[in-house]
Amino acid sequence: MTREELLQISKPILFNDVMVRASLDEILSDCPKDEVIANSFIKAWAVINSPAYKKIACSISGGADSDIILDICQKCDTGGKIDYVWFDTGLEYQATKDHLEYLEDKYQIKVRKYKALKPIPISCREYGEPFVSKVTSEYIGRLQKHGFQWEDDTFDNLFEKYPNCKTALKWWCNLFGDGSNFNIGRNKLLKEFMKSEPPNFKISKECCEYAKKKVANAAIKGEGYDLNILGIRRAEGGQRISVASCFSEGNDGYDVFRPIFWYKNEQKRIYEEHYGITHSRCYTEYGLKRTGCAGCPLGNDFEHELETIRQHEPKLFVAVNNIFRESYEYTRKYREFVRTMESDECEGQMNIFDYLEPEEENGEE
Ligand code: SF4
Repeated sequence: MTREELLQISKPILFNDVMVRASLDEILSDCPKDEVIANSFIKAWAVINSPAYKKIACSISGGADSDIILDICQKCDTGGKIDYVWFDTGLEYQATKDHLEYLEDKYQIKVRKYKALKPIPISCREYGEPFVSKVTSEYIGRLQKHGFQWEDDTFDNLFEKYPNCKTALKWWCNLFGDGSNFNIGRNKLLKEFMKSEPPNFKISKECCEYAKKKVANAAIKGEGYDLNILGIRRAEGGQRISVASCFSEGNDGYDVFRPIFWYKNEQKRIYEEHYGITHSRCYTEYGLKRTGCAGCPLGNDFEHELETIRQHEPKLFVAVNNIFRESYEYTRKYREFVRTMESDECEGQMNIFDYLEPEEENGEE
């Protein structure tokens, strides 16, 4: 798509045409020679300066992607319409908090801080700890509420026995269709593991609801923002990327714009170098690849993260181990179970080939 075409779809260029283009041109003339980055500025300029939006929130996390969207917003927000908001989950790195202060100082802005509706330690105690993924935690939590015994049976038989948790039973019985994220089969051998070792602690995804989703919704909606800007990139993949484009018209009374949705790692690197973006110590000193709730058990690499926390933020290390102890232990057992089953399977295959006579192997007499 050409720049002219993009300008065409940029509704906002409805106001003072000459001034806008002059300033946008200034940004573009200094911008790295990268089409994705240039397009992101054109689109961001158009959306942020659109008269359709009176009050805009930019949700920042202190992470690397959020550093870039903050910089883009600062360059494009000619009318000072953007408020920067941060949701404190209660399990934040000190390095993240320090970085927010650095950003406030660098851009001369005030970051509005919102506390979790229920801090993570409290929701974990009340509802349960997260395990494997949010989808998995949700369905396990529902089954636990109905006293499910982690048994293997047909859906019809189980539904008769547990009539009030149809969707969770469909997850357990892999009835959401081939390859669906909503089947237990999405996680290798999880069903076999849970049958052999049922969980003896409460599992839930509610910490995410109370520390992130509900608090963000309440703040954005409650404060009357009509646009929320997020630092989400498609290239990140994963379950959190459930949208197909950089812009969504919201059902909750506000729209959502993702300025760096199309950035790949290469664009991030170019942007950071060109504009001298400094990230938090979580990246530069601790060597983490991403930030967020410290020690979240849903992270694939939570063991490495735990070791990093132990070295750099020892008090936080004690806290996360208290909050997520059972989930860490259960996840370790699950991983060990998968490793053992896979190596048994492997040995089994080796045995077959080791002990087969050549004639038998190829079926010849
Ligand atoms: S990211 Fe992890 S620890 Fe943080 S709220 Fe969500 S599930 Fe809980």
